[in-house]
Amino acid sequence: MKGFILKLNRVRDEDLIVTVLGEKNIGRYYRFYGARHSVLQMGYLIDFEVEQDKANFLPRIRSITHHGFKWLYNREKLMYWHRFIAIFEPHFRDVEEIDSFYFNLLLDAAKKWEKQSPKRVIVEKFIDILKYEGRTHNLDKCVICGLGIEKSISLIKGFLPAHPDCAHSSTLNKKELEYLFNSGETLYLSDESVDVLCEIALKGLIG
Ligand SMILES: [Zn+2]
Repeated sequence: MKGFILKLNRVRDEDLIVTVLGEKNIGRYYRFYGARHSVLQMGYLIDFEVEQDKANFLPRIRSITHHGFKWLYNREKLMYWHRFIAIFEPHFRDVEEIDSFYFNLLLDAAKKWEKQSPKRVIVEKFIDILKYEGRTHNLDKCVICGLGIEKSISLIKGFLPAHPDCAHSSTLNKKELEYLFNSGETLYLSDESVDVLCEIALKGLIG
């Protein structure tokens, strides 16, 4: 099987519970400590085998091999990858089966991470997820006060639209955002807007 490590929880002394986003499921597996085992990190793409262990409450994960992406050696890119991966575990906390959309999205993001700005990839992938889950909102109405939004707009967690005064947050250009929401591309957005949007995306998804 293949998947991205969403979370590692240490149990007992050195054993781990590994949460993996696979092609069809969110798997939770037990990994016994072994000195010769390779070190696992959140965000790794791994190949692995699963062994149902009747004595244990979780299946065991074994024969793990890790796909190395070049950017894993770039501190800043790795830091953004960890932050991006971190939004998925809370989103799927009570979920077991998922569509292959999420695995493919992470795989595509991991491939783009090398050559493109991780912040732009995060914003674009976040929009893809919102669209896939039917969570994009009309930018004409503030979700806090319910009144119309003219030119100045802010986004809050989940990319929900609000007035800058209602959200107490950075002002963004509504035209730029409309372009982003329609095209799914950050091409015409300034680096400053992308910085703001990336930080909002990294607050996570709602629900
Ligand atoms: Zn408002």
